[in-house]
Amino acid sequence: MNTASFASLNLAPEILRTLTEAGYTIPTPIQAQAIPLVLEGQDLMAGAQTGTGKTAAFALPMLQKLLPHASTNTSPARHPVRALILVPTRELAIQVEASVKAYAKYTKLRSLVVFGGVDIKTQTPHLKTGVEILVATPGRLLDHIEQKTVQLNQVQMLVLDEADRMLDMGFMPDLKRILALLPRIRQSLMFSATFSDEIKKLSEDFLIYPTLLEVARSNATAENVTQKAYMVEQVDKHALLVQLLRGSDATQAIVFTKTKLTASRLSRQLQRDGLAADAIHGDKSQLERIQALDAFKSGKISTLVATDVAARGLDIDQLPMVINYEIPHAPEDYVHRIGRTGRAGASGTAISLVAPEEERYLKEIEKLIKCEIRKETANLPAHPARHQRTERHEERSHAPRPPAAVKRSHDAWFDKPYEPGVSTAPAQPQPEAPAAKPSARPMPALFRRPR
Ligand code: AMP
Repeated sequence: MNTASFASLNLAPEILRTLTEAGYTIPTPIQAQAIPLVLEGQDLMAGAQTGTGKTAAFALPMLQKLLPHASTNTSPARHPVRALILVPTRELAIQVEASVKAYAKYTKLRSLVVFGGVDIKTQTPHLKTGVEILVATPGRLLDHIEQKTVQLNQVQMLVLDEADRMLDMGFMPDLKRILALLPRIRQSLMFSATFSDEIKKLSEDFLIYPTLLEVARSNATAENVTQKAYMVEQVDKHALLVQLLRGSDATQAIVFTKTKLTASRLSRQLQRDGLAADAIHGDKSQLERIQALDAFKSGKISTLVATDVAARGLDIDQLPMVINYEIPHAPEDYVHRIGRTGRAGASGTAISLVAPEEERYLKEIEKLIKCEIRKETANLPAHPARHQRTERHEERSHAPRPPAAVKRSHDAWFDKPYEPGVSTAPAQPQPEAPAAKPSARPMPALFRRPR
């Protein structure tokens, strides 16, 4: 396959122009694989995460295919929704639509994003003027469908982005309702980081003879991201965090917590410590979330405390540091989290603060990424409470531990270890890494359903 340039992928000049302006010279592996297939009209089931360049992988051929419908006519009837992109979170919706809009800059195609948490009335007038490409979260799209502010009977392309996360977040009933409203003859593209049985089932329900695209999972762990873990008592985490944030050369950091409550509390504590911090999590209003994210992206705040759901899929340019204040219980979440740094070929640091009761989760992570994370010793001032707790911990550590809760996937591909050194997000111009050779092959029988 020719991955030499975007021009060789037969994209129209008005699309190539934006890529040149954005500095994209070489398609990423998922783009090189997906673009020709989408242009051919095939359904796709692609294993790729945010960070691999997958937005352009579906958006560029989508624009190319919709170009004949581009029109300057002001009549809404001339601008029906022809492509629908469903995503699980509001932030991702905003991000994806911003990319689509940027790629469509020199075309006459219109795009719009609709998501919950904001007044629906603000979205309706825009919808009514007509858009060819609609990016939506499922719940809000259903609201618009109920209010008859959107028609989906002319959708010819559907993208289901982060399908695995949609399932995790319980979107299945909403998805089924939306899919039932789409024309049966259409092209469907599904992107998912995992190929669990549920994902296969979902793909059977709405893809027709899809091609399976496997691009090695984005794993910046080996080369770009320096990983460290501090074995530390829970009571010391806050002091250590402040020390790390203040002492580091990194200008910005995302600090991950497991719960919304911890995220809120921690960001308030950090503000009291004099750090420019804010939190982003599911209990915040949409406006607050957008403001916090914008403040972080523009550099107004240096620390963003986030839960996994809120931070999923975010593309923050040049983020130098990720700190796991609490260790995720699902090891895959660790990879998603640290994937926020070391993007686009930049280097990054991922630091985990591991309390004794979290050690077993760290072991699960090490097993998944197939490498041992370097352990560091925290250099903290003496703390009487810590001393007592450490003694208690030493006593406790002789007692047998319950077995670690292993989250199993049902698919052999997902159980494959991460391959150190294989990065699939070469945002810097560079040839496709041979070790990460992606494969395009017909979908296994399990994925097929009769026409
Ligand atoms: P995504 O996986 O779509 O979130 O993309 C991750 C990042 O890679 C985004 O910041 C894109 O702007 C960037 N990107 C996507 N494709 C390319 C490319 N071919 N060359 C350089 N950067 C890219």
